[in-house]
Amino acid sequence: MAGEPQDDCLFCKIVAGQIPATIIRETATTVAFRDISPQAPTHVLVIPKAHYANAADLAAAEPQTAADILSEARQVADQDQLESHRVVFNTGTGAGQTVFHAHAHVLGGRGMQWPPG
Ligand code: 5GP
Ligand code: ZN
Repeated sequence: MAGEPQDDCLFCKIVAGQIPATIIRETATTVAFRDISPQAPTHVLVIPKAHYANAADLAAAEPQTAADILSEARQVADQDQLESHRVVFNTGTGAGQTVFHAHAHVLGGRGMQWPPG
């Protein structure tokens, strides 16, 4: 069924507590934890507890949870006292997605370039 945990999914395992992560926030629908390979002083992943392969699939199936991810991204930025921050949803292999459980990257704490690579 859509949204159900997947046995072979790394982020489902983090949601289930089967793999450790530095969790900094949790809501009924989301978990936020620090990226294992940070690309900025703040690099937090905000994920839905439900499993969807990417943010587009999440938004189609559960628009309220997709909105919750954005609210949580803002809370992460506040919590880390970021003056500016960037929220990124890599969607598909060609865009750099490597973990196929929807997630927002919240990046901040350094200057950033545009366009991204
Ligand atoms: P993507 O490339 O799919 O947009 O982002 C996946 C992110 O997950 C990467 O930034 C990567 O560093 C992070 N990541 C991969 N494995 C783990 C892990 O086991 N724990 C944590 N905290 N982050 C992970
Ligand atoms: Zn998953």
